[in-house]
Amino acid sequence: MTDYDVIIAGGGMVGACLAHALARDGLRVAVVEPFPLDSASQPSYDDRAIALAYGTRCILEGLGVWDGLGPAAEPIREVHVSDRGHFGFTRLDARDEEVEALGYVVTGRDLGRALLGPLAVAGGGADLVCPARVRDFAIGPDEVRVAVEPVPGAASDGAASMPRTLTAALLVAADGGRSAIRARLGIPQREHAYRHHAVIANVTPALPHRGVAYERFTDSGPLALLPMTDDRCGLVWTVRDDDLADLLALDDRRFLARLQERFGFRLGRFGAVGRRSHYPLELRLAHTQVLERVAIIGNAAHTVHPIAGQGFNLGIRDVAALAGVLADAHRDGRDLGSLGVLERYAEARRRDHRAVVLATDALARLFASPAAPLQLVRNLGMLALDTLPPLKRALARAAMGLSAGSRLP
Ligand SMILES: Cc1cc2nc3c(=O)[nH]c(=O)nc-3n(C[C@H](O)[C@H](O)[C@H](O)COP(=O)(O)OP(=O)(O)OC[C@H]3O[C@@H](n4cnc5c(N)ncnc54)[C@H](O)[C@@H]3O)c2cc1C
Repeated sequence: MTDYDVIIAGGGMVGACLAHALARDGLRVAVVEPFPLDSASQPSYDDRAIALAYGTRCILEGLGVWDGLGPAAEPIREVHVSDRGHFGFTRLDARDEEVEALGYVVTGRDLGRALLGPLAVAGGGADLVCPARVRDFAIGPDEVRVAVEPVPGAASDGAASMPRTLTAALLVAADGGRSAIRARLGIPQREHAYRHHAVIANVTPALPHRGVAYERFTDSGPLALLPMTDDRCGLVWTVRDDDLADLLALDDRRFLARLQERFGFRLGRFGAVGRRSHYPLELRLAHTQVLERVAIIGNAAHTVHPIAGQGFNLGIRDVAALAGVLADAHRDGRDLGSLGVLERYAEARRRDHRAVVLATDALARLFASPAAPLQLVRNLGMLALDTLPPLKRALARAAMGLSAGSRLP
């Protein structure tokens, strides 16, 4: 008998959601996470504004997490897409889709609180092995043996009593874009560095945002302002690597003046800006996402450009699919780590992964280009979207996360 049915490496957004889903289905689960649960410096749960698709809300409801998150979530009622200095413009409206909201915006920190809080209480359904990391693992015929080590320097009363080896039927790698587990397995991946960074900060404009999310394409890269609670907006500003240092060196007043010049005055004057952070933008797609006794999910399996706010939305659909496959196998008494079971999961997810990677990559390249023919293409594209209701509906449903399996089985 193994210690657990499933060991999840990584308690970030995707790993924590999977822990909720598997515990709900009665599986024995451990989550190994290097950052202390209450750490203010946990990079997965920082101040970035995360746009949750409507389908993601449905999954979070199924996990019992939405009640804790809902008060921190600002509904997106409209999306305005425009190209600075050009004619293209399109607008998506929740009323056209007959839903309360196209999506919701929360901070990573809010998500962290809602996900980790219930897991951390005794009887929360999963054992949290924390702060610790997966150092290595060995795949055997009946189990995977996972070597766990406490994180050096992290304050941990339990470090001495922490088990050094854990066994399970399945190891799930949810250890992020630079996944050591994927690397250790030697799985090749498609990789591309966009040579852009995303600069994020929360800003407060003079006018209320009224639930409108703005995606504005500028000659230096796309800029999104997402509606947040307390009439703040979450800024995600894509800038070329060469321009990053200059932008970060600006004091708050000059930073807001630069933003105003890029975005315009639709929200009046920007009055305050919070802490700025920045992330390199990369595309990664692992060629294989399951092997005997290992599944790779979330950013560890696919990291996409944040241009359309799809990364976590894609990862939580992995969670819904994997939880469904494992619950079926558990009920039928099948080996959860067998390739036969895991391939059902991989097969179910292949199309969604490819579609989102292709779409976000194409958008990132198209909208990063100052070349005149590409500008024309994107402006005509937005015009077509605005005048062709079926096309617009398809885009709205994809953005809402409703084109691919978005409910827990
Ligand atoms: C600027 C920006 C804006 C974004 N906006 C959106 C958005 O609007 N909507 C959206 O859906 N997505 C968005 N994303 C994407 C989203 O943030 C990611 O897709 C999501 O955080 C991925 O979660 P994850 O759990 O897979 O990985 P991570 O959040 O990277 O978590 C990995 C976890 O694994 C742990 N770990 C690492 N190594 C080990 C080890 N050896 N053992 C155990 N644990 C380990 C880490 O400590 C971490 O907690 C955005 C991303 C960026 C950069």
